[in-house]
Amino acid sequence: MVLSFRKIFGIFVAGLFFIFLSQVVNGATFNRASLLEVVFLNVGQGDAILINYLNRYQVLIDGGPDGKVLMYELGKVMPKDDKKIEIVILTHPDWDHFGGLVDLLDYYSVESFLAGNIESDKESFQKLISKIQEKSIPINSPESGSRIDIGEYLDIEIIAPDKEFLFKEDNDNSIVTRLDFGENSFLFTGDIGEKTEESLVKNQGNLLDVDWLKVAHHGSKNATSDIFLEKTTPDFAVISVGKDNRYGHPAEELLERLGKSGSKILRTDESDSVIVECGTLKEESCKVK
Ligand SMILES: [Zn+2]
Repeated sequence: MVLSFRKIFGIFVAGLFFIFLSQVVNGATFNRASLLEVVFLNVGQGDAILINYLNRYQVLIDGGPDGKVLMYELGKVMPKDDKKIEIVILTHPDWDHFGGLVDLLDYYSVESFLAGNIESDKESFQKLISKIQEKSIPINSPESGSRIDIGEYLDIEIIAPDKEFLFKEDNDNSIVTRLDFGENSFLFTGDIGEKTEESLVKNQGNLLDVDWLKVAHHGSKNATSDIFLEKTTPDFAVISVGKDNRYGHPAEELLERLGKSGSKILRTDESDSVIVECGTLKEESCKVK
């Protein structure tokens, strides 16, 4: 995988990168075992993923369906005394992704919100939006091509939705995010289905090849198609799913497709929160804790 500080940082970062890497190798700068943690929180049937960079900056993608569960799981992995989450990304306005975020705002300060469809008129969702506005937290609806600047060595890019080609279903317009940390890469897919996958393969094919894939839509049979897997070729596929859920997720067909693709499957319903730690920027440095 190639470093993706493509556009803005260029040569400047290349120099810094070398210094940083030598410091990491010598252990001179950071004592922590991991510079980056990506935690697929066990929030039952839903999604909540914490990106913890340098134990100082956090991005939370979705908040699962239940505030109490989210607070409990976050409490286990957030740095002690850090009550701030820099950015919350809400992939789409479905309860199993935003339900826990109302409580989050009572316990953590959030600097900024990125949300897919802010216009959704669901009452429970508008309650969350009102609370965000009450607290004067900026809320934006990002589109494909936006980048999140949170630290020099962490590159987070929004690769969907494309605002000019929105789909009918909220699921299909989920915010899809690619994260690059040195030679390690992750793709977070919300609840997209085959239609969005097809469009991504067609229009963003060069950004899909990753090491770690958050399997879309809790392992639904209508997502993570063969053509999507051919492009993403993940070494690890993480399914965020509740035990004995009423949707039958993850679907048997999907597990077979993942099996055929050779990806190692990790599931929050079987192994609790899946904690991935990245110790250096080098290839394959991210490992399950
Ligand atoms: Zn969902």
